[in-house]
Amino acid sequence: MRHRHGPSPSQSVLRRAWDRGFRLHDHGRELLSGGAPARPSGDARVHRGRSSAACPDGSPRGGHPRGRAAPARGRHGGGRLARSRRGGAHPRSPTRRAEWSSGDRSAPSRRHDGRVCGRIAAVTASAADRIRRLRERIRHLDRLYYVEATPEVTDLEYDRLVAELRSLEDRHPELVTADSPTQRVGDEPLDSLRPVRHRVPMLSIDNAYDAEEIAAWGRRVEKLLDLDAAADPVEWVLELKIDGVAVSLTYEHGVLALGATRGNGMVGDDITHNVRTIPGVPLRLELDDPPATVEIRGEIYMANSDLVALNERQASAGLAPFANTRNVAAGSIRLLDPRECAARPLRFLCHGIGDAAAVGVTSQADLLTWAQRAGLPVAPHTDVFRSLDALVERGTERIEQLHTLDFEVDGFVVKVNAFSQQVRLGTTAKSPRWAIAWKFEKFEATTRLAGIRVQVGRGGTVTPVADLEPVELAGTIVRRASLHNADEVARKDVRVGDVLVVEKAGKVIPHVVRVEKHLRTGRLPAWQPPTHCPECDTPLVRDPDGVFIRCPNVDCPA
Ligand SMILES: [Zn+2]
Repeated sequence: MRHRHGPSPSQSVLRRAWDRGFRLHDHGRELLSGGAPARPSGDARVHRGRSSAACPDGSPRGGHPRGRAAPARGRHGGGRLARSRRGGAHPRSPTRRAEWSSGDRSAPSRRHDGRVCGRIAAVTASAADRIRRLRERIRHLDRLYYVEATPEVTDLEYDRLVAELRSLEDRHPELVTADSPTQRVGDEPLDSLRPVRHRVPMLSIDNAYDAEEIAAWGRRVEKLLDLDAAADPVEWVLELKIDGVAVSLTYEHGVLALGATRGNGMVGDDITHNVRTIPGVPLRLELDDPPATVEIRGEIYMANSDLVALNERQASAGLAPFANTRNVAAGSIRLLDPRECAARPLRFLCHGIGDAAAVGVTSQADLLTWAQRAGLPVAPHTDVFRSLDALVERGTERIEQLHTLDFEVDGFVVKVNAFSQQVRLGTTAKSPRWAIAWKFEKFEATTRLAGIRVQVGRGGTVTPVADLEPVELAGTIVRRASLHNADEVARKDVRVGDVLVVEKAGKVIPHVVRVEKHLRTGRLPAWQPPTHCPECDTPLVRDPDGVFIRCPNVDCPA
């Protein structure tokens, strides 16, 4: 039997995706600390070889996929979006992108007579070529940024490319297409959201609350499949359950044609106008031979650091702050005006597909690999197991690492990996039998940070601990939360005197989810990590590449 003990090939692919996930998160840390993410170089190589994917027939295909007119120019000049930019938002956030929308973009519409027609046709052909290359390049950079988390150029370089594309499209409005990276934000609010019936129902997933319930579900699955377990074992996938809003994205011939909420599972709302504004959602899949129709499923969510920045902007505009990431995501994607939605820094992660046969993948692991290739961001920290016990063990460890994520997770989703087995298991009236949500109890509270204490632990590791104003959390009074390490304090920008949102998940000690920075009054000094051991006053040393600070004194009393 193949790789009984080693990782399966799909597992190693996912492990790589996982590492990227960690980097994605690191990336968030850089963003939160105020600077642009580190870019390896200002390299602006034009990537060739996929030219046919950018503009299949080379002809203008103006118009919105759903028949609305292509967004016109000259929108939100000096409006709310223009004012709210540079509020510490994600560098590629919709607000940032909206900068390019301001100003006069009225397009020339002169008619030409027959004599100059040939020359103009030649100019248009070269413009069309340049536009095609620019779009291809921008899509490639978006993919590196949002899917691979390995940005290749500076934000400035990226913005320059978008500006050039916009300027060319202004001069050649007939070459504007709905899938152009410049056409994310429409300029017309809708009157109402149109209901859409899901081609394949969006079922909800049953819940389990502990390892025993997961094990019992696993035994039911194996029994239903009636497998010779030794010859044909079930593979199990462990995915993070992102606390966002479930959506379905339909791509027709590779072009985003429809975005819909889950609704009641049968009928949802058409939110295409808002989904288009989310920079991580590709308007066009990066596939040479895209399927006629493919329905992608995933989660729209907001990162904790993005909510902190958004609430700061809300407060400075005299608007009410948002209570949590889930509510703001759910409210934003149902807004009627896409310009308002574009000002909310939303993100997307793919975790499923309506009909796998459309893309010829045979397992969940393969699907996620395919999705990444197509330019769709997938949830980090996904892994495949041959044993459900091993999966539970990993999940239990992972709960303790939730503080390292920049987004909210309310559990895991455990899935049967093979689509053939999923089909055999089928669904009940409400839920698939091949998946279960492993939820853990999670409680949040808001309190003030009274101080940061430094503890010296085993091995001399020096860790900061938050002293909180006492607050009730899950029936107990909480006075402390873990701050893990100095880097985490800096990344979350936690300062003594701040109002914090703290969370307790599972049996783990509470951790800090985010700072309510909009409530920060006066100038709070940034916390400085200690330079000397609080127990023995020995100068502290930092791990060579790690995040921990240690006391090197072997005789330290701590
Ligand atoms: Zn010491």
